[in-house]
Amino acid sequence: MQGDKVIRVLDKEFVVSFTEEEIRKEIRRVAAEINADYEGREVIFLAVLNGSFMFAADLLREIRVPCEISFVKFASYRGTCSTGCVREVMGLDVDIAGRPVIVLEDIVDSGLTMLHVLETLREREPASIDVCTLLLKPERLQAALDVRYCCKRIPADFIVGYGLDYDGYGRELRDIYTLRQEQSVN
Ligand code: 5GP
Ligand code: MG
Repeated sequence: MQGDKVIRVLDKEFVVSFTEEEIRKEIRRVAAEINADYEGREVIFLAVLNGSFMFAADLLREIRVPCEISFVKFASYRGTCSTGCVREVMGLDVDIAGRPVIVLEDIVDSGLTMLHVLETLREREPASIDVCTLLLKPERLQAALDVRYCCKRIPADFIVGYGLDYDGYGRELRDIYTLRQEQSVN
């Protein structure tokens, strides 16, 4: 893959997979779907921090239905529970009861995190909840999860950039990069 853009984040090398322009195009497509599906209604977007901040900002610029956005963070169980368990929602400052919610995520991998996020949000009795993710790894999905809006389906590789991190770094990258084949994370 000579000529492909390779970057280094901490100790790992990553190669570009989707450019800023490609990402923007898919975001416009998904925003158009949302605009059509939610025509005549108001939406509350809940963007899950940290990873979705860049995606949320770009998606919202394409939304044409009246909406609110709030940013939430989920605290995970530590020690007692495997990955994906969500203890509580932090920073939810809007009342979602009886209102349509769209959750914005950076990436759905096993889907376990999103499953718990949805469970936690349902306790607050929104009228409906849809999931909108920037990236989805269909081969990795373990949960029966209905992902209504998805910008890109990707293979089961580790990616960084455009809000997604490797050990806290790489979120500022404008493009999306994939870990080079011969390496692994964790
Ligand atoms: P889950 O397996 O529960 O669907 O994914 C949990 C979390 O793992 C995601 O929200 C995301 O923070 C992280 N994650 C999964 N795959 C990747 C990846 O390829 N790159 C990065 N940076 N994070 C990922
Ligand atoms: Mg995330």
